[in-house]
Amino acid sequence: MAGKTVKVSGPLIVAEGMADAKMYDVVHVSKLGLVGEIIELRGDKASIQVYEETSGLGVGEDVLSTGEPLSAELAPGLITGIFDGIQRPLTTLYFEYGNRISRGFTVNKLDREKRWHFTPRVKEHDAVKEGDVLGVVQETEAVEHRILVPQGMAGTVRSIRSGDFTIEETVAVLSTPAGEKEVCMLQKWPVRKGRPYREKLSPSSPMITGQRVIDTLFPIARGGVAAVPGPFGSGKTVVQHQLAKWADADIIVYVGCGERGNEMTDVLNEFPALKDPRTGESLMKRTVLIANTSDMPVAAREASIYTGITIAEYFRDMGYNVAIMADSTSRWAEALREMSGRLEEMPGEEGYPAYLASRLAEFYERAGVVKLLGSDERTGSVTAIGAVSPPGGDLSEPVSQATLRIVKVFWGLSASLAYKRHFPAVDWLTSYSLYADRIKGWYDKNAGKEFFLYRGFVMKTLQEEAALDEIVRLVGMDALSSKDRLTMETAKMIREDYLHQNAFHEVDTFSSVRKQLLMLGLICDFNRLAGEALANYADLDEILALPVREKIGRAKYIPEEELARFAEISKELNAQIKAVAQGGEADE
Ligand code: ADP
Ligand code: MG
Repeated sequence: MAGKTVKVSGPLIVAEGMADAKMYDVVHVSKLGLVGEIIELRGDKASIQVYEETSGLGVGEDVLSTGEPLSAELAPGLITGIFDGIQRPLTTLYFEYGNRISRGFTVNKLDREKRWHFTPRVKEHDAVKEGDVLGVVQETEAVEHRILVPQGMAGTVRSIRSGDFTIEETVAVLSTPAGEKEVCMLQKWPVRKGRPYREKLSPSSPMITGQRVIDTLFPIARGGVAAVPGPFGSGKTVVQHQLAKWADADIIVYVGCGERGNEMTDVLNEFPALKDPRTGESLMKRTVLIANTSDMPVAAREASIYTGITIAEYFRDMGYNVAIMADSTSRWAEALREMSGRLEEMPGEEGYPAYLASRLAEFYERAGVVKLLGSDERTGSVTAIGAVSPPGGDLSEPVSQATLRIVKVFWGLSASLAYKRHFPAVDWLTSYSLYADRIKGWYDKNAGKEFFLYRGFVMKTLQEEAALDEIVRLVGMDALSSKDRLTMETAKMIREDYLHQNAFHEVDTFSSVRKQLLMLGLICDFNRLAGEALANYADLDEILALPVREKIGRAKYIPEEELARFAEISKELNAQIKAVAQGGEADE
């Protein structure tokens, strides 16, 4: 039975006669069949957020509940896909020409015609349960899509076939206590509900990003949660893009949320041309894009991060390490605020609803490393990174505050660093990673024990620089001892030669952990050898004028295939400092 609209207020409509509907049901509104979702139910009155333009809608329009919650479609066809906030496919045309999807466009979320080659991984009579892999589809060169026994199902395999199937065709029949069940590749999952797993584990390995300031100073764990707050133009989007390009994850889900459309165009233009350093395949072949740019309806923006994280969890359940980026969670929170305002809810701080913090937490809590459902011991992870754009860069506002209480990594972007064109503008004095201690073991084992020793040295030197800066401001550089001046120079090398990383330079855009270690080694050795030479009365200015310093400065441009060149530079460094030190002794 259809309800009738009694009020239309932008993306929010109110309908009467909805007593049969449930909270969060998806509804169709008017003859156009606009898609909406019930976000409040009082008696037979439903408040509905509509994911499409509502202009032209009046009172008395039909509202029909589908009886189902907003769900993601999960099957082959996701990877390389571009979807809007409720997972309707977008074409490249949308971003290039701003073509709007026509309203009420009840397009399928995933292609129903396309055939995928399904290869069984179990045989007839095998016992299987929820989460077990029934078979696989090579979805792209980079991704094997694993078809799982749906949640809540268990039994024995009655039949299973290999061959080319559409996502709706039956690939297996299971005998279950509830009778025979046909299983196809397409599964649906309500986006607002986290997908189940057996157990959450504590993160213990890093997600390497190839970004030096992150991997070395403020690493993120696989299954971890991080925020990138910063004012306009400080580099949040570039950081998110760099992570999407280079993070050591099997699958990337990128949610462009309320930001400019041309940034999504950049992704669409750049990603296909970039090669994954691990697989050698195009980075697009492991990526799912969700786009709700600023010009698209605000309600679908609210849904977009749930759609994104549901897709992320789905690939996690296949045993993959997934990373999800949301740019920007502030724009998402603004959508929440707008809907809350229209619902005439009691506003909290700065007009945001009182449930802002719990909604944000619900999103980030779906990240983690987990032991998966299914018969064999498998794990998967979702790592979540949200950009936060506080107005004026002031972190005391509600979205930043709520986010900081949840996340364990804080990459604070600084306006003054960005102004000086020090990128990534991650402020080393205020940023932190609470995972560092937990993943030190991984670095010790895989990068070498020196890595964290160097890291400690870098942190200490940058802090000393900040303290010395104060003194220099008061009494001038001349007041410093040679030792302190060396500290200042080393800090400058750390900042300029190491932390500064050009996202748009072919080589500099990505540094392996091995290369990071070698680069750190040069700077730390320089500091140590120079310190020893100073103790032997060498002249600091002579040391600073050594030609090897320029080579250290340019080491970031050494390609990954030529890392052997570091040994050469190291030799030169030793020889040149030795020459100065001997000169120093001879002077005496
Ligand atoms: P935000 O999203 O915070 O508004 P952007 O990510 O769009 O800022 O960055 C603004 C500009 O800063 C970029 O267009 C680019 O010119 C520069 N930038 C940011 N990060 C880097 C980087 N790692 N390397 C080089 N340039 C950068
Ligand atoms: Mg941005």
